[in-house]
Amino acid sequence: MLKNEIINKLRKIVGSENVLNSKITMTTYAYDSSPFLGKPGAVVFPTTTEMIVEIIKLANKYNIPVTPRGAGTCLCGGAVGVEDAIIISLAKFNRILEINAVNRTALVEPGVVNKELQLAAEPYGLMYAPDPASQNVSTIGGNIAENAGGIRGVKYGCTKEHVLGLEVVLPSGEVITTGGLNSQVDPEIDLTYIFCGAEGTLGLVTKALLSLTPINSDTKTMTAVFATLEDAGACVSEIIAKGVIPTTMEILDNTVIKAVEDYAKLGLPKDAAALILLEVDGFPAETKAMVENIIQAFKNNNSINYKIAKDEKERQDLWKARRAVNGALGKLKPSNVVHDIVVPRDRLAVMLKKVAKIAEKYDIIIGQVAHAGDGNLHPTLYYDHRIPKEADVIEEACDEIIKETINEGGTISGEHGIGLEKLKYMPLAFSQPSLDYMKKIKESFDPENRTNPGILLP
Ligand SMILES: Cc1cc2nc3c(=O)[nH]c(=O)nc-3n(C[C@H](O)[C@H](O)[C@H](O)COP(=O)(O)OP(=O)(O)OC[C@H]3O[C@@H](n4cnc5c(N)ncnc54)[C@H](O)[C@@H]3O)c2cc1C
Repeated sequence: MLKNEIINKLRKIVGSENVLNSKITMTTYAYDSSPFLGKPGAVVFPTTTEMIVEIIKLANKYNIPVTPRGAGTCLCGGAVGVEDAIIISLAKFNRILEINAVNRTALVEPGVVNKELQLAAEPYGLMYAPDPASQNVSTIGGNIAENAGGIRGVKYGCTKEHVLGLEVVLPSGEVITTGGLNSQVDPEIDLTYIFCGAEGTLGLVTKALLSLTPINSDTKTMTAVFATLEDAGACVSEIIAKGVIPTTMEILDNTVIKAVEDYAKLGLPKDAAALILLEVDGFPAETKAMVENIIQAFKNNNSINYKIAKDEKERQDLWKARRAVNGALGKLKPSNVVHDIVVPRDRLAVMLKKVAKIAEKYDIIIGQVAHAGDGNLHPTLYYDHRIPKEADVIEEACDEIIKETINEGGTISGEHGIGLEKLKYMPLAFSQPSLDYMKKIKESFDPENRTNPGILLP
């Protein structure tokens, strides 16, 4: 429990209405969207950089850890806070300060919700390209801290490709600006990217200059069904090898196809090994050429059938299968663990098969959806936590998935981050010298280890 003296000082900084510390609220903030549990002592809602500086200085004086938090949609336990930590929620620090259509940039505060930025950019014919599935609620600060990806990632990249500059409150309480937020950008060591994916361990992002992307005039959406994972994998490789970069390229495996068909009755062949959902965007002449190449790849790789949406209604119909995945699989079992791994694109089919074998070995349901274009798989393990036979093997099955990922030349997280969840796998993914240098970076920013301690680095 944080002392009343501290709570009163926090109230002075942000106002009484912006400090919460009741037991029930602390229980709520002890969770994010992962199964991990923190034990925070208070939640504060600053609305300016100056307030955050004051909070950090107070925390430093009394040796209290702090954890930044956006919407709490983190899937790896990064936003829950260690014992008696002050959770600094950026949720109310949430103004879009500028959309500059000529420069195609947006200047935003960290609590801006991703979707709100998308909507604000749209009237200018622009979009903010990173589009995590949590975009209706997750914040730009959280997206930057996790280097969030989305289904457009195959063409447009993840968050860090769209961050031009940052304002950051460091663990010392000092404020720095980086990249395009510096008045003069001479040759510099650009610190912007050290904060992208640092999971809030190096400081709090308080302002971000982001690049916006023109919305393309034409979009074509397609699905194709395959009898084997090898064919589907080879099709993905052929499409990319032809120089076609789809906006979206998702694979659903047989477990998912069956569950979706039972749930949504879309007419999917339940014996198919894989369904690929593809979208391309560009000028009409470009999309036409891309579609021709993709159809050829479908045919070359024995697609059982394929569909191309002729209009927006048909496009939405094709998306139905993808959108139904969570609901369909969630009906099968009450609990799940979402994995987030990456393998080289040419190992995708092999990895999908290996995971299916792991499901068989442990007699559990693993539904697999992959952002196939960038080799990012989300095997999701479904089980009943009340049945020991199922619950007891989940961790072992997760460990085996990670081991096979590393064997295939892959890595342990594509977009969901490390947090608490993947901590134990860091030594498998990184050499000791790499880990040592990461620790040195952390120590140089935060020698007392007060800013989001306990996550990311073992
Ligand atoms: C249904 C669902 C779908 C999802 N889909 C995707 C997806 O498609 N792609 C994807 O990449 N992720 C996805 N996620 C994971 C999650 O939404 C992302 O990691 C997102 O970026 C987290 O944003 P948030 O605002 O919720 O941050 P939080 O969960 O609050 O925090 C995440 C991390 O960022 C840190 N942080 C937050 N704000 C700041 C700040 N201002 N400065 C410094 N550090 C900060 C926190 O300390 C924490 O470590 C999904 C999650 C859910 C629940």
